[in-house]
Amino acid sequence: MRRLCPVCARRRQELVDPECVICHGHGFLVLGQAALETYPAEVVAEAVHLALEARARIADTTMTLDQNRLLGVRDALTMLYDSGILDNEHDIPVALTRALASKSGARRPAMALASEVIQEPLFDVDATLAQAGPHEYQEHDRPGVRGTPLFSANGYPSHLARLADPANPQQSTGATVRARRRDHKDAELLVKAGELAAPKRRRKARKIARQEMKALFSTEDVLNDRELLPAA
Ligand SMILES: [Zn+2]
Repeated sequence: MRRLCPVCARRRQELVDPECVICHGHGFLVLGQAALETYPAEVVAEAVHLALEARARIADTTMTLDQNRLLGVRDALTMLYDSGILDNEHDIPVALTRALASKSGARRPAMALASEVIQEPLFDVDATLAQAGPHEYQEHDRPGVRGTPLFSANGYPSHLARLADPANPQQSTGATVRARRRDHKDAELLVKAGELAAPKRRRKARKIARQEMKALFSTEDVLNDRELLPAA
C-alpha cells in the first residue's frame, strides 16, 4: 500500500519534485509491511504525515533560516524506515501491498504511533496543520510583512510544506497571481486543443490499424497459407 508524498501532494498542481527530500521523485511512500500487519493503512499513512509534520514544527520553531532546517525531517524519515512504518522498496507491486493492508487488525491512533516513532510529543496543532488547506495570496499581499503569514510556495500553512516547499519571501504576490492566471488560461486552451486533436488522432490510429490488418492478411500471405495446407 502506498501513500502520496505529503509534500509533493501539496506542491503547485501536485507536481512531483525529482529532488523531493521526502519521496526523492517517486511521488509516493510505501507503507511498511511490519506496520500494516498491526495497523490499518489509514492509521499508518496518517502517522507518517504526523511524524514528519511534528519534526518540521520543531525545526521551524527552534532554528533560524540559515540553519539546515530539513535535517530533523530527514531524521524523522529515517526513523519511519527503521521502525517498519515505511518500506524502502518502491517497486513492491501495488496488489501485494494492498493484500498486506487488508490484513490490518487492531486500531491505534496515528498520533500515538507517530509520537512513538520520533520519540517526541505530538500536539493537536500538528494534525490541524497537516490537514490544513492552501491559502491563495491576492495580488497586493506581502508575505511575511505586516502580519501576512508566510505559507509554503503553494500556500500551505503546515511546517512540513513550508520547510520542504519554501516560498520566496522576496517574490511579489502580484507577479505570482498574474503568472497563475496566465497558466490557467493556457491550460484551458490546451484542453480545447486536445478536444480538437482527439478525433484526428483517433482517425489516424484507425487508418494505421486498418493498413496493418491489410498487410497481415494480404492476398499473398493467404495464398502462401493455402500452399502450406495439406493437399485434399
Ligand atoms: Zn515528494
